[in-house]
Amino acid sequence: MPWREQVSAYRTVVSELMCQQTQVATVIPYFERWTAKWPDFPDLARAEEAEVMAQWAGLGYYSRARNLLALARQVAALPRSPRTAAEWREFKGVGPYTAAAIASIAFDEPVAVVDGNVVRVLARLDGVRVKLRDASSAAKLFTARADELVDHKRPGDFNQAMMELGATVCRKGVPDCGRCPLAEWCDAMKQGDAAILPRFVAKERKEATVERALVIRAGRILLRRNPHAAKRLAGIAEIPVLSSLGLEPAGEPVLVRRRTIGTVTYEEKLHAVVPKAADLLRWARDAELEWVAAAELSGAALSGPHRRWLGEWLSRDGRTARGRRP
Ligand code: SF4
Repeated sequence: MPWREQVSAYRTVVSELMCQQTQVATVIPYFERWTAKWPDFPDLARAEEAEVMAQWAGLGYYSRARNLLALARQVAALPRSPRTAAEWREFKGVGPYTAAAIASIAFDEPVAVVDGNVVRVLARLDGVRVKLRDASSAAKLFTARADELVDHKRPGDFNQAMMELGATVCRKGVPDCGRCPLAEWCDAMKQGDAAILPRFVAKERKEATVERALVIRAGRILLRRNPHAAKRLAGIAEIPVLSSLGLEPAGEPVLVRRRTIGTVTYEEKLHAVVPKAADLLRWARDAELEWVAAAELSGAALSGPHRRWLGEWLSRDGRTARGRRP
């Protein structure tokens, strides 16, 4: 495969995987650091997993980093690189959207990329008013229509233009129809209901509370590293859950933070803990627990929100060293 095509495929894979569930503005510095360090599949294929996870730290959804490394190793070992969307879909972590993006942008295959932005443009353009179950069933529903429209001469440009149109002009809420090149064919604009399209079935929302332990001893912080086989945050360290340390919450937490993942909003209560000798002995037998020097947190593969919370806690005068027993 010509070198340029391969690098283009590599950069597309990296950017598409990084942009899944993460905003573009957040991704840009990560993408620049990543491609400067590993410019092509063979460079990444030679990297250590720990180094890859540390570079990814802060982007979340860490299975993407692991899939990217596995994919680079597989591609680098092949006699010929995959080209079509169907071939790219064979790799773990590469869904229909990413496969179509790589095949159309790097290899000019006329397949449509259908993300949330494209769904919005097509739902409004064609006046689709049925309630859609979720983003993935919506993408499936609109794929045939998008494939029908894709430009066979410049599919990569077409796909990027459609996504950009959805992100900047046919945006969520009130669209900027006066600047839209599709206005003369748009059903929603004619009917005046573009702002409420596409329609989705309302999801049930849930709340949950998580109590965590902030433990520091001799300048080192206690963290729990998820096993590599874990489904969630594999290989990534987190602030341990109190109950997993054999402790109960007592008194007020030193930090309370809320965050929403999917349809669940978590209230994270962080308790500063001074361990007893018996605690230390018990934790020493737990293979997932490790002590990380506070000064080395920036280089550790650590969940993004947890890194932030630790930074907030450590920056508080006096509380760091004292803590208290819950
Ligand atoms: Fe979206 Fe308006 Fe363009 Fe229709 S005319 S596609 S609603 S921006």
